[in-house]
Amino acid sequence: MGAFTLADTSRGGVRLFSLFGIEIRLDFSVVFIFGLIVYSLGSGVFPAWHPEWPANTVWATAFAAGLLFFGSLLAHELSHSLMARRYGIRVPRITLFLFGGMAEIESEAETPASEFVIAIAGPLMSLAIALGCMITVGTALGEETMQRILNDPEQGMAQVSPVLTIALWLGSVNFMLAIFNLVPGFPLDGGRVARAVVWRITGDRMRATRASATAGKWFGWILMGLGLWELLAFRSLGGLWLILIGWFLSHLATQSYVQAFAQKVLEPLRVGDLMRTRFDRVAAEMPVSKFVDDCLLRSNQLLWPVMRGDECVGTVSLNDVLALSEEAREGTPVGNVARPLADSGAIGPEVKATDASQTLAAWQDHPVPVVENGKVVGLLRNSDILKWLMVHSPGGSLSP
Ligand SMILES: [Zn+2]
Repeated sequence: MGAFTLADTSRGGVRLFSLFGIEIRLDFSVVFIFGLIVYSLGSGVFPAWHPEWPANTVWATAFAAGLLFFGSLLAHELSHSLMARRYGIRVPRITLFLFGGMAEIESEAETPASEFVIAIAGPLMSLAIALGCMITVGTALGEETMQRILNDPEQGMAQVSPVLTIALWLGSVNFMLAIFNLVPGFPLDGGRVARAVVWRITGDRMRATRASATAGKWFGWILMGLGLWELLAFRSLGGLWLILIGWFLSHLATQSYVQAFAQKVLEPLRVGDLMRTRFDRVAAEMPVSKFVDDCLLRSNQLLWPVMRGDECVGTVSLNDVLALSEEAREGTPVGNVARPLADSGAIGPEVKATDASQTLAAWQDHPVPVVENGKVVGLLRNSDILKWLMVHSPGGSLSP
């Protein structure tokens, strides 16, 4: 698909090789899509163009075409990556996956101009490949044969060699790839181009992101609509594919907007600004059964600091209680099941909110204690940050 994304830490698939110092990875989903392409070329497209070809020529050509297709996706991503590097942005790896290629860049472009150049470089590469293929085919076949192919594809194609057949197919696919990627909606390349333009005109990067993400979300919905129509009207499985791509695009559009928005809103904040400061504590001597009846069931607080006098000895939550049988809860003091602060994800109030949100994501939506000088001064969980974002987002919605 040629989208590019900020580096993330997930590592799926296998490492293929390294190119210009960039790690090229293959997600396992590529095996599926590669098989699908080779199958549709070998069982449908090429036999229709060349009924006279023997089966092994058909399949060898289909296999080579599939490989070259992924080669051209890689060239598209490399084109983004090398441009990004010219602007001083590191690109650790490119991953080929179900929907195409994904170059992971380590930071966002700093100016509208650099964003524009990095984004347009991919589609330009696809266009160049398309043009190269078309020129090769045109020169090799001559005007007369080309005209015959246009007039009567079945008769005309008979004279086209396997190599030129691949060039013809690869050229048209790369042309469509370039056009699709230029649709001006996030996260497609065209969306980044559009964002760079709006950013340049308004000087407001957030507003540009929002506009481009909205367009991307709508484009995703349109693709899903088209897919549904194709599925119902023609009973074609191609419709499912469109629905899947549409869903993926609109999901990514929303996600990248939320990410950009969160980054901007959370930038100046610390954990101390976001944490809950109204919460109850529980005495270490209290029996677990009493804690369940009087605290756990009577409040929606999820985590309790456990106090021995003035000193906090740990935290307790529903999970810690569940480990104990109902009879055992009677005689066990809360202090015995308390989790030490060090094991409950304790975090300082001065930690930057952007860093904390990464820590919190690892705890799913479980709260962590905010600890200052050995004292619990607050509680914080992922949805508290979400709440903060909602309160400060235009229209109170996190969707672009
Ligand atoms: Zn691209």
